[in-house]
Amino acid sequence: MAEQDFAEKTAIVTGAASGIGAAIAAELAARGATVIASDMDADGLDRVVAQIAAAGGTAHARVADVSQAPAMEALVKFAEDKGGALHLAVNNAGIGGPSVPCGDYPPEGWRQVLSVNLDGVFYGMRYQIPAMKAAGGGSIVNVSSILGSVGFQGASAYVAAKHGVNGLTKVAAMEHAPDRIRVNAVGPAFIDTPLLSRNLSREVMDGLAALHPAGRLGTSEEVSGLVCFLLSDRASFITGSYHLVDGGYTAQ
Ligand code: NAP
Repeated sequence: MAEQDFAEKTAIVTGAASGIGAAIAAELAARGATVIASDMDADGLDRVVAQIAAAGGTAHARVADVSQAPAMEALVKFAEDKGGALHLAVNNAGIGGPSVPCGDYPPEGWRQVLSVNLDGVFYGMRYQIPAMKAAGGGSIVNVSSILGSVGFQGASAYVAAKHGVNGLTKVAAMEHAPDRIRVNAVGPAFIDTPLLSRNLSREVMDGLAALHPAGRLGTSEEVSGLVCFLLSDRASFITGSYHLVDGGYTAQ
């Protein structure tokens, strides 16, 4: 049985139906949180919530599109209704987008990636922060990427959005430290989730693995461990910063 250090806490996780978000939802619930698992994939959410319940945890599903401000406002209200208050949030939902050079990048693909990966994080925090102020404080983790600090060819929109997430994280942290709200970002390298496996062949995945000094892709659980540390009171003096979980990728 995991330490129940998130007992009495209510936590929103976006993109919780799959990959990294599903692992974060499971760890938060195992550590005692009431988890509000949100995603656009209703069936995936039902599976994640059922797995959490089977393991003895508490989770509620809420279908919401992070790129729509009213949906994010309603998600926070749902969390307050289910949990009494909002204490923790992980803005994790994200998409990869087209893989083409900047000079050929489709404008509609740019807009879609920015609307999910950057607008979605802003809309999340826009409504989470007032709720956390009402709760007396809180902790937010935004899931960025190694591509929040370095470039990657063919991924201009994704790289721009993730750099934006890191900047937004710093400003929100500075502005809301007096409200006892901490805001941090994490930067995973390539993680073995459906985001990759849905779109890439095994051969390409192996090629990506070889880019890491660790010689492999990361796991969702390895990202979740860092996210949950940053959410926890053990990280009480950590705010406004960006934390890598990258198998040495950006050390090169
Ligand atoms: P994933 O397995 O594809 O999971 C992402 C989830 O977000 C999916 O369930 C997806 O639903 C959902 N989603 C997509 N658009 C949404 C929207 N507008 N509103 C709400 N939910 C939405 O991806 P992952 O690898 O776990 O990625 C999670 C986060 O980690 C993303 O922010 C990603 O950029 C970041 N990240 C991933 C990696 C990696 O290598 N995997 C590396 C660095 C950072 P659908 O399946 O229906 O689209």
